[in-house]
Amino acid sequence: MSALKAKLIARIRSEGPLSVADYMAACLGDPEHGYYRTRDPLGAAGDFTTAPEISQMFGELAGAWVAERWMAAGAPSPFHLVELGPGRGTLMADALRAASGARGFREAARIHLVETSPVLRAAQSKRLADVAGVQWHDRLDTVPDGPLFLVANEFFDALPVHQFVKRGDVWCERRVGYDDAETSLRFVVDAKAAAPQSVPAFLSEAPDGSLFEMCPLGAAIAGAIGRRLARFGGAALLIDYGHTGAGFGETLQAVKAHRYADPLAEPGEADLTAHVDFSALAAAAQGAHTFGPLEQGEFLLRLGLAARAEALSRANSNAREAVRAAFHRLTAPEAMGTLFKVLALSSARETPPGFA
Ligand code: SAH
Repeated sequence: MSALKAKLIARIRSEGPLSVADYMAACLGDPEHGYYRTRDPLGAAGDFTTAPEISQMFGELAGAWVAERWMAAGAPSPFHLVELGPGRGTLMADALRAASGARGFREAARIHLVETSPVLRAAQSKRLADVAGVQWHDRLDTVPDGPLFLVANEFFDALPVHQFVKRGDVWCERRVGYDDAETSLRFVVDAKAAAPQSVPAFLSEAPDGSLFEMCPLGAAIAGAIGRRLARFGGAALLIDYGHTGAGFGETLQAVKAHRYADPLAEPGEADLTAHVDFSALAAAAQGAHTFGPLEQGEFLLRLGLAARAEALSRANSNAREAVRAAFHRLTAPEAMGTLFKVLALSSARETPPGFA
């Protein structure tokens, strides 16, 4: 049995079954054995690949979007350029290269990376070695006040979700316990109802057996972004896979070596994510104007992905096939094009590029 599994079984023995959120938080963030604490999960040799790792075009278009919003806001100087969960630092590097076309942008930008993984912090530091003054944070809270331009790609899907199951007239929390032999983990459902305020009231009509997921940490972070935007101005681009409205059904999933795995089988050894409920993020981001969510493929095409791909292919004919493949992965409905969505938050009422 892995060290984390033994630790979780001991914890369940003393505290009782864990909420799915506590389980997810331990699998991803346990200080000794957590998935993100102990490895770089990205790329062909890792467990999954993200849009910025597929192509430089993704970060470049995100950077151009941010630079345009910064200019539209009157080019505030200084401002905070923040990325949540920056992975290997690839998106930020590509975004800065593209955004530096906007006069004064680089000089005005104070760069803040919100990252809890020591392994990925090291990768970010290496990737951004030539960028002066990068600051790291464990949480958004410690980023100083001021105009904010923020990007997050595949960050919200890694935040812990609670699960509730409808039993007759009430919602009961689904948890992680263990089997009789105390050797494997399994899902259990509370016999007593969850506190009424833990599930949105509009769900009261859901049929018996429905499963609902909720991400309070995601809502809290979206709320904090919204408050900062309202107070200091700026814009945010939140990109993730997920659904437009609150939906039913389990989306918690484990991925290991580019394949789906059992989320309970090897805690800490597989990536655990859940689909992002964009309607919940938008509702939580009070004070900011919200735009979208829009499908990623549509968004990238509207921002000029085709022209960028053409330019890259012309500049290096050997890369033509790789650029074509990346274009397809980022935009095709059977790849990332429609499952991934983009939500923009802004202090300005005006519709940002791509959302018209
Ligand atoms: N944005 C990157 C990486 C996505 S993976 C990309 O697109 O390639 C998720 C990222 O979020 C990782 O960098 C991970 O370490 C970070 N992360 C996960 N949970 C976090 C948390 N609670 N606080 C801060 N960072 C977190």
